[in-house]
Amino acid sequence: MDVLRARNLLLWGAMLAAALVGVALPSLYFYQGLSNEQSASAAAVRMQSATVMQVISRNPENWRFQDSLLREVLATGTGDPDERPREVASRVLRLDGSIVLETAELPAGPRVVRRATLSESGQAVGYLEHAVGLRPLLKSTVLVTLAGTLLAMLVYWFLRLLLLRTVHSGLAALQAEVRRAEAALAEKAAVEGELRRQARQERLLEALAAASNTARTPGEAMSQCLGQICEFTGWQFGHAALVDFDGDKALTRVDFWHRPAGEAYDRFAEANSRHRHDVAGGKFVGKVLRTGVPVWITELSGSQGATRAAQFASIGVHTGMAFPILRGREPIGFFEFFSEAALEPDAELTALVQRASGYVGGVAERVEAADQISRLNQDLERRVAERTAASERASALLAARGREAAAIGEMTGVLQVAENLEEAGRLVARYLPVILHGTAAGALYLLRASRDSLERLSTWGDTVFTASFPPAQCWGMRRGQPHGSLDGAVPLRCAHVADGEAPGGTLCLPLVAQGESLGLLEVVYAEAGDADSRSDRLAAAKRITEQLSLALANVRLRESLREQSIRDALTGLHNRRYLEESLDRELARSARDGQPLAVFMLDVDHFKRYNDTHGHDAGDAVLRELGRELRKCARASDIVCRFGGEEFVVVLADASGDAASAWSERFMQNVRAMEVRLGNRALPSITVSMGLAVFPQHADGADALLRAADEALYEAKRDGRDRLRVVRLQTVESRQPTAVAA
Ligand code: GH3
Ligand code: MG
Ligand code: MG
Repeated sequence: MDVLRARNLLLWGAMLAAALVGVALPSLYFYQGLSNEQSASAAAVRMQSATVMQVISRNPENWRFQDSLLREVLATGTGDPDERPREVASRVLRLDGSIVLETAELPAGPRVVRRATLSESGQAVGYLEHAVGLRPLLKSTVLVTLAGTLLAMLVYWFLRLLLLRTVHSGLAALQAEVRRAEAALAEKAAVEGELRRQARQERLLEALAAASNTARTPGEAMSQCLGQICEFTGWQFGHAALVDFDGDKALTRVDFWHRPAGEAYDRFAEANSRHRHDVAGGKFVGKVLRTGVPVWITELSGSQGATRAAQFASIGVHTGMAFPILRGREPIGFFEFFSEAALEPDAELTALVQRASGYVGGVAERVEAADQISRLNQDLERRVAERTAASERASALLAARGREAAAIGEMTGVLQVAENLEEAGRLVARYLPVILHGTAAGALYLLRASRDSLERLSTWGDTVFTASFPPAQCWGMRRGQPHGSLDGAVPLRCAHVADGEAPGGTLCLPLVAQGESLGLLEVVYAEAGDADSRSDRLAAAKRITEQLSLALANVRLRESLREQSIRDALTGLHNRRYLEESLDRELARSARDGQPLAVFMLDVDHFKRYNDTHGHDAGDAVLRELGRELRKCARASDIVCRFGGEEFVVVLADASGDAASAWSERFMQNVRAMEVRLGNRALPSITVSMGLAVFPQHADGADALLRAADEALYEAKRDGRDRLRVVRLQTVESRQPTAVAA
């Protein structure tokens, strides 16, 4: 500055010097000229008045002298500036020695007497001429001025050049010095700024550490840290959020606020917490989550693409800055701060808050961890509750299964002692309504030995079931697995199922044991249950069907074993064992009813010979035909059995001796007429001999009666065969019956 001033001063000096040169020269010239004129004027006047007048004489000899004197006077002149004549002499001398001064008004101006001559006549003539007139003076002065100006400019440029060179070199040195000083100053200021910034950061971080240490929960720590940052920056809103990413959207999972109290602010916070940030195209939080770098927006409510613009406008915030919460390099959330003032981006503040946010990010991690723990706890509690409910359901199911199993066990236990399938059917109809929950009715069908028909064995409930139908009518039987629907919608209805479909649906359950089809269980449910109960019903029905099939197979097996044990395989008649079992019972009943009972013993005549003659097969054929004939002639209440070999016993209930005799005559006649074929061969006819004993007439015990009948038979053989002999009563005491001729 000083240098510049000095430089300017010097320039001014140069200009002044130039001006002096330029002005002084013409001024001096002009002044000189002017004073010359004045001197000349004064001299002329004096010439007249004093000097010339005195020295000039009339003596011609003195002319030369005088002339020179005159010249001298005129040339010298003595100027008295104060005596400035108003009139100027123009001509002077006369030869008589007097000087005549002719005066006239002359224009003012310097003039000099240049010449004075003495004429031959002695007349001195002085010539005044305008040696130096004002106009020429001015003209000359102008010229001199021009010359002076030129000179002044030369002087000025010379001086300036000289001066600037000197000054510039000094100035450059000075400037370099200044720059060095400035750089040093800037460096010092930067260091001081950095120190101040660090100090601010340290203060903020200390405040954050204190806030997070005194907080009781991570969430409280988070809120306090946000408060500290807001207080530090002077911004009004602080928001930290951890997010879940859902494709291109980020949803706030947990968040914390520092905000002024007020309903509008609460609404703002709530709306923000529910906001789905657009990670793909967002310009504020979305961009932070996308790029992981801070974003500053000076005017949020007007910013292009700010989907939250209306929210920001509603609470009057203008500027916002957002920072990522990072785990490693991955953003897991964000901080955002809002100011009610519109602020231009401030790199220092951004860096400061970013560092602070990074620090608070650690707290966010703790919040995240706490959140995860709480979620794990909730998950655990939910799973425990689910397990408890499941185990309760399981134990309820177990109890129900237990009851079901007990009932099934009881049913199968009862079925094990069932006499026959008829009885088993009745028992099943008693148990199944209890075991199969929700059934309204049901029917048990058995497959006939011929396998061409299912016969209804027993039913329960009000539904009317078909008495019998071919297995092909049932899709369950055809597919060998349960069929029907429990929700009432039957896509493929079995032909045997009644038209009025029960609301709960119908199930056809084939009964299969050891790969053999036994029959069918048809079950009608009262009401449609929910999906769970329907699947439970089906599962229960399947379980029960399996058990029932096995139990029924056992009953059938026992029945057939029993049949085998009491029947003769060749003739299909009962065997001797059956006779022994049942004869006592028949005798007791006859005794109770007071009715007689006839017992025949019957033997084929000469059967050994028949065998020998026609072969054993022919003998067997004869025995089979004889059995058929016996069954044909006997009533259902009678007992007909093969006693052994070719001997048979017939017990006629409620038959007296006469009636029995008549029956035997008809029978023997039938036997004689019996036609027996073996293949294409017609076999010769046979005859039988018969012995009859009647209860209580001939004996009162089974053995005694059979023995008596045998005696009578022996009698018939002895008497020529092909006849009947009746027991003859001897004495009541001996009770020894004797056969008599019929
Ligand atoms: P009688 O008139 O005295 O009764 O003469 P019989 O030949 O019938 O006498 P016997 O009781 O001695 O012979 C019985 C014969 O019956 C012996 C046996 O060959 C024959 N027989 C016994 N059981 C069967 C059988 O199951 N099938 C056949 N084919 N023959 C039998
Ligand atoms: Mg015999
Ligand atoms: Mg015989």
